[in-house]
Amino acid sequence: MIGLGGDPDRTTCSSARCRADATWRVNWRNPRIHAADRVKVWLACDKHRSTLGDYLATRGFPVVISALDSPVDVVPDGAVPTTAPQTSSTDEAGR
Ligand SMILES: [Zn+2]
Repeated sequence: MIGLGGDPDRTTCSSARCRADATWRVNWRNPRIHAADRVKVWLACDKHRSTLGDYLATRGFPVVISALDSPVDVVPDGAVPTTAPQTSSTDEAGR
C-alpha cells in the first residue's frame, strides 16, 4: 500500500473514533513550520472529508483534498478544501 509515514497497513479515517475505510486524502500543511513542498496527510472517509478539511481550513492551513490513490506533491498557499482534480495541476481551487 501507500506509505504515509504512519501505520502503513492502516487506511481507516483519521477522524477521532471513526473506523470507516478512508477514501480520501486530506493534504495540508502549517505554513508557519512547513515549507511549501511539505505535505501532511490525513485520511478521511466520505463522511469526514469535509469535517477534517474544514477543521484545518479554520486554523488557516492550506488544504487540498484528493482521492486516496492520488497523492499530491504540493499544498499551495491559500488552497481551500475542495476536491482536487485528478491531474497534478495546481490550478487555483475554486475561489
Ligand atoms: Zn470518518
